[in-house]
Amino acid sequence: MTLNVLFSAPDMLWDQYREVLPRAIAAAGIEAKVTRSADPAMVDYIVYAPNPNLTDFAPFTKAKAVLSLFAGVDRIVGNTTLTQPLCRLVDPALAEGMVEWVTGQVLRHHLHLDRNIGAAPHWVQDAPPLARHRKVTMLGLGELGMACANMLRVLNFDVRGWSRSPKSAPFPTFHSTEGLRDALFDTDIVITLLPDTPDTRNILNAQSLQWPADGAVVINPGRGPLIDDEALLAALDAGKIAHATLDVFWKEPLPHDHPYWTHPGVTVSPHIASVSRPSSASEIVAENIRRSESGEPLLFRVDRARGY
Ligand code: NAP
Repeated sequence: MTLNVLFSAPDMLWDQYREVLPRAIAAAGIEAKVTRSADPAMVDYIVYAPNPNLTDFAPFTKAKAVLSLFAGVDRIVGNTTLTQPLCRLVDPALAEGMVEWVTGQVLRHHLHLDRNIGAAPHWVQDAPPLARHRKVTMLGLGELGMACANMLRVLNFDVRGWSRSPKSAPFPTFHSTEGLRDALFDTDIVITLLPDTPDTRNILNAQSLQWPADGAVVINPGRGPLIDDEALLAALDAGKIAHATLDVFWKEPLPHDHPYWTHPGVTVSPHIASVSRPSSASEIVAENIRRSESGEPLLFRVDRARGY
């Protein structure tokens, strides 16, 4: 039997997946037709990235799963028409990309690279401390946060982490709302790799931005709504936060008149910290279709109540 797989994602992604996805599904031993449009009642699986063409999942009465091409599912998880199982992307290549981006951003600030790379004559011998004297807090210890925290630990940073549930890690960890202050207290670099849920919105706010060390740095590759923008701008203006490197925003693309574009203490990055790679992402989607067709449990199912 040939399965019908609907690819519901922006045009740009179809160009990237139109060949690799059918190939990966075939390599998993599944006969399937991958199309961009189909009679909803005939669709077996939906491969999905946020797009305005698909907001009502109710007509997909036969669909066995919605397979996200993104790790973050904040734009779909609350959709009340979605009753099919939802799986997010967990891909070692995604973690690899995020580890590289986060490590680069941390080293930029740790080594004062901005000060020491420049055209102007500049001779100020302000050597950075060793990494083991630099406190780094990772908010979020999931697939991506834990991989980044482990790499920073290997580089000898004084890492601590925070998550919803307790964790065992080769560095101090804190959890739940009660643990947030201890996780952030006196830290030099804060990294946010949390999902956007009602519980994590504005987790960096006027109060919590006071807990890190004076002159701390914020790095946000997680989601824009994790940060209260006004509170961050106020903390930057006050010098409490020395710099913020932001890859994600409440509204994307970041509006042209947003103060982040011109603030000297902000680096804007256009949501590229780690992108899904079509070949490895297709293999993961294909494996989930194979599992579902063989009656095995789906991988990386989203807990709809938890929101991630
Ligand atoms: P994940 O595996 O689901 O991990 C999420 C982490 O956040 C977990 O450690 C979880 O705690 C923690 N968390 C969730 N709610 C919390 C709360 N209320 N309080 C404390 N901790 C909480 O997700 P992931 O794969 O690492 O991805 C993280 C996020 O990165 C995604 O949701 C997405 O928004 C973002 N992302 C961005 C890019 C980019 O290019 N900028 C690329 C990919 C992903 P538990 O471990 O206790 O559950």
